[in-house]
Amino acid sequence: MPDQDQRLDVGIIGGGCSGLVTLKELVAEGHRCRVFEKSNVLGGLYTQAYQQGVFVSSHLLTMFSDFVGKDVDILEKPRMLSFIEYAQYLNDYADHFQLKEFIQFGTEVKSLWKDFSDQKWKVRLTNDTQIYSFDRIAICCGVFGNISLPTFQNQDLFQGKIKHMKHIQRYEEFQDKHICIVGSGESASDMILAAAQFGKKAYLSIRKDHGFIVPRYIHGDRFGPADLDTSRIHHSIPRAWGVLHTTIDMFNSLIKSYLKCLFYQKGRSTDYDIVRRAGIYMNLKQIRTSNVWTTYGTKNSNIVEALVKYKHKCQRKPGIKQLKVHSVVFEDNTEEYVDEIVCCTGFKTSFPFIEQSEDADDTLKRYFTEAKISHNLYKHCFHPDLGDEVAWIGFARPALGAIPPLMELQARWFALLCSKKLTLPSKAEMNEKICKYVKYLEWQLTPYRVNRLTNLTDYLIYSDDLARTIGCRPNFTRIFFTEPKLWMKLMCGPLLNAQYRLIGPHAKPKQAKEVILKAKWVKQPNILYFCMLTCYAFFYLVFRIESCKPASWYPL
Ligand SMILES: Cc1cc2nc3c(=O)[nH]c(=O)nc-3n(C[C@H](O)[C@H](O)[C@H](O)COP(=O)(O)OP(=O)(O)OC[C@H]3O[C@@H](n4cnc5c(N)ncnc54)[C@H](O)[C@@H]3O)c2cc1C
Repeated sequence: MPDQDQRLDVGIIGGGCSGLVTLKELVAEGHRCRVFEKSNVLGGLYTQAYQQGVFVSSHLLTMFSDFVGKDVDILEKPRMLSFIEYAQYLNDYADHFQLKEFIQFGTEVKSLWKDFSDQKWKVRLTNDTQIYSFDRIAICCGVFGNISLPTFQNQDLFQGKIKHMKHIQRYEEFQDKHICIVGSGESASDMILAAAQFGKKAYLSIRKDHGFIVPRYIHGDRFGPADLDTSRIHHSIPRAWGVLHTTIDMFNSLIKSYLKCLFYQKGRSTDYDIVRRAGIYMNLKQIRTSNVWTTYGTKNSNIVEALVKYKHKCQRKPGIKQLKVHSVVFEDNTEEYVDEIVCCTGFKTSFPFIEQSEDADDTLKRYFTEAKISHNLYKHCFHPDLGDEVAWIGFARPALGAIPPLMELQARWFALLCSKKLTLPSKAEMNEKICKYVKYLEWQLTPYRVNRLTNLTDYLIYSDDLARTIGCRPNFTRIFFTEPKLWMKLMCGPLLNAQYRLIGPHAKPKQAKEVILKAKWVKQPNILYFCMLTCYAFFYLVFRIESCKPASWYPL
């Protein structure tokens, strides 16, 4: 903990999961914090989004490193939490670490600026004349407040409604309507199934490729969530071999699905088998342009279920060409009657407390405009011109994996920077590293996707990189020799953030080990990945074939 006189005053804008974990890490480092949260409840977007929503990442991957929650059985019987359950988890987290006293609910930050006379950051609230003063600021406002809506040709003519997914609160709103869902991400996947179930007709408009479809429960409900086999070895498969690896993976799943029916189900396929196979064929159809490592994952196969189970009233369509009074014309020139268009087209990053601030100067406004593209920031967190005075927490989004664990690592890093236990490199060095990082991402995810999805990152590579910076990445070679059972779990088990509590600042090795060893894991696919990875590593080490270098060996 820093000395009394080194403690900083830190202002945190937003009390969602990023604000909460940032608060917890700063308090652990002894800093004085104040969280401004505009709503009256804790939980951020999960208290505001559609209430039947369920996570697409399992709780094992999503939970913070040192708090499992009240349901301890979840380690052995993992599942996805509903949005309501996750909001409760955040409440329990806040109670457990005694964080609520630092949060000011019902306070919206209206303006943020730097006062150069005392070198402090100032915050002005809506409906409050007081000005708050801080040494450091954490931007944890998320992106959920600012929807991104496309404009369609002849939109003014259309007599139906055009909504954003954010405006849907309950699936029953689709009752007896002709609905057109736009998009192919996880929310679109939830919405199209709901529209197919409740609506009269449902159309799913997708312009190009859909995300790489992974069902929430890939092995069937009996074996738990799909992301249990996105282990360290799975994430270490060299990205250059993505197409080959994904094809093998998909065929492996197909063969297993058919064999299971033949031997265990007397040749009969269940609904689950049919949906799973249809999802695999959809992935295989676009494998040349989008494999598991080059696109975002749609970790939710409701999209397939809607198209397969409700095929009599649910259809896939290309992009929207134009709107007419009561109908939509798609790019293949088909025309359908539609009551409501629901755009699942994501969110826009914006910082209204700077953009509309009368106090912030133009230079600060420019820095914040640049920061809207998260790739412009050093490791998605720091603007090179502002250094560690302002941290953006929660703006990196992995193609596969959960977001809160990344927020936690970012928060730990920021807290250590505030305590001067770590320092940022020079501005020139940060700029150079930002360029190198974007080049790496473009190589892996294609320049098109990096330009479009400006927060996208690669889960393990990014979290390992932050862990190295913090000094909490475990020494896997040492663990291999000293604790082989733990090593096996770390390599082949789900990617728990508890691994980053084994060593380093604020380590909790006993608790972390217990969580890792107890957590359920899926053996079969991981043994397959293990064999593949050994071959790639062999070719890299012996023949120096660069494309065979395991992905986790890339230092950013
Ligand atoms: C429908 C949906 C499902 C998702 N499912 C998953 C999932 O399964 N797994 C996963 O890892 N991620 C998921 N995500 C991604 C999700 O965005 C992040 O995981 C995470 O919840 C974002 O947290 P946050 O704290 O950054 O933002 P939020 O949860 O949006 O919290 C930001 C908070 O800041 C407050 N705020 C904003 N502006 C101000 C201001 N000016 N003054 C004061 N307060 C302010 C807001 O009121 C809000 O409470 C999902 C996202 C959506 C939209």
